[in-house]
This record gives sequence, structure tokens and C-alpha cells, in this order.
Amino acid sequence: MRIFETVYDLKLFLNVERAQQKSIGLVPTMGALHAGHMALIRQAADENDVVVCSVFVNPIQFNKEEDLQNYPRTVSSDLEKLQAGGCDVVFIPSEEEMYPEPVEENYDFGPLEQVMEGRFRPGHFKGVAVVVRRLFEIVDPEKAYFGQKDYQQLIIIRKLVQMLNLNIDIVAVPIVREADGLAMSSRNMRLKPEERDAAPIIYKTLLYAKAQREKFDTPGHLIKWGTQQLQQQPLFDVEYFDIVDADSLQSIKQWSDTKRCILCVAVFVGKIRLIDNIILFS
Ligand code: AMP
Repeated sequence: MRIFETVYDLKLFLNVERAQQKSIGLVPTMGALHAGHMALIRQAADENDVVVCSVFVNPIQFNKEEDLQNYPRTVSSDLEKLQAGGCDVVFIPSEEEMYPEPVEENYDFGPLEQVMEGRFRPGHFKGVAVVVRRLFEIVDPEKAYFGQKDYQQLIIIRKLVQMLNLNIDIVAVPIVREADGLAMSSRNMRLKPEERDAAPIIYKTLLYAKAQREKFDTPGHLIKWGTQQLQQQPLFDVEYFDIVDADSLQSIKQWSDTKRCILCVAVFVGKIRLIDNIILFS
């Protein structure tokens, strides 16, 4: 496995690979890798000749300084996992390397970024778009892999590719969960034991919502039930529990308003903010 810290060296290496007609798959991450990330790497390795994984904690997508400071950084174990998981190239740039100049570009994703994560994390998706575009420019992959765990991010990246007319295939990878159903996340390691014990209730609630969906006359009734269900957990504070069209991400009033429907939640468990989602029907 090759490790690069500069854009120059990485590009030099990838140009040689490309000249040999090798296909390149990109997996962008912020490190603190777990089995969810490794599923992206595995799929990329199955579908490409060269897998590039970027590890960069992107400061401009954090809207709280504290969250950025507390974001876990576990570089040496990340490198071990990547080596064992079939990654060919790791790109691990410094902040100066990624942003040598002040960031000036600004993206407008319209209604897609005004809901859910976008509503509670202003500027978050603009920061994500800037770093992902930069990575796309540097790596120039045929395919790039994103987890369905960050469902809104996935839709926004697809929109970015469309807006910029990029020739990159965005591949969605299903959510990888712990044995008890908790969606894997780099943030899980920061949960206190009692918070970790309670956290699987999030997914249990999503599963119940999906199974019993038809018993609720409208999405609004299900939202009310689900929010109450989670809110009654002493360690939980629900930020949103939204039922939206899986493409437009806009709320629906009636079940018949959409053919593809997703339920997305963000819940603080203690101080740790967790997100999860489930397709209700499609
Ligand atoms: P992050 O390092 O949190 O920015 O995540 C990097 C990529 O891994 C994103 O595309 C995430 O959606 C994806 N990812 C994170 N957790 C999971 C998971 N539990 N299952 C599938 N993909 C995930």
C-alpha cells in the first residue's frame, strides 16, 4: 500500500496507473475507520484496479469548533485496517495541502440542503462539497464510494456531480451495523457505556416504524409516535425524525405523495450526535 501526503506525489503516481489503463476508485473518509468504511473499501476493490482512500478531517464541514477538536484521530490503526482491507493508495494530506488558498467556492444545493442535516448544521454540505470536489479533481476517479448512512450527503454528492457535469459514477454502499443494530460511526467510540447501551434503540425504533408503517394514517402520525418513542429515553434528545421523498428529500404529507420514502433521524445520545435512516418503502 502506498501512502501519499502531497497532491503532487499522488497525482504523479496515479498518472502512471492511468496510463496503464487501470481504473481508479475513490473512497473519501475522515479516518477513525471501522467496518462501515471497510465495506466501501471492499466494494471499491471489487470494482476497480486501484483503490484510493483519502483520510482527511475536513475542518470546513464542521460547524462547531468543539466537534472538530473532539473528532477521533486514529491514523496508525487506520493504516493497518486499510492495508488489511485491500486498499492500494492512502492519501493523507495536511490542511495546508488541501487548502493552500482560502476557500472561495460556494455551492447552492437549494432545498436539498435546507432540510435535516442542512437545517441543523448550517454550511456543512458546502464544506463537504468543497472537499469532495477537490478530491475528485486530484484523484480523477471513475467511481467514488459513499455510505447510505449519510443519505443526504449521498444525494448532495450526486447533485454535485450533475451540476459540474463530472464523469464519475457515485456508488452507494448500504449501512453497516453493529450486532445490536447500531449504525457504525466514528462517533460511537465516544459514547459512555450507558449511552452505548441505549443507542441501539434508535435502529429498533426505525425497524418498528418500517414494520408498522401502514398502521399510521399519515407520515405525520408516524413522526409523532417515533419522536415520542425516542424522546422518552432519558439519555436521548431528538433533533429531527423526518419522513421524506428519497430523491427530493422533501417532507411528504401523505404516504401516496411518493414512491420512494425514507425515514431519517438525528439524535443526541448524551453529547454525541448520531444519525441513522431506513427506507420505508420503494
Ligand atoms: P466519514 O469518515 O464519517 O466521513 O465517512 C466516510 C464514508 O463512510 C462516508 O461515505 C460514510 O457515509 C461512510 N460510512 C460511515 N459509516 C458507515 C456505515 N456504518 N455504513 C456504511 N457506510 C458508512
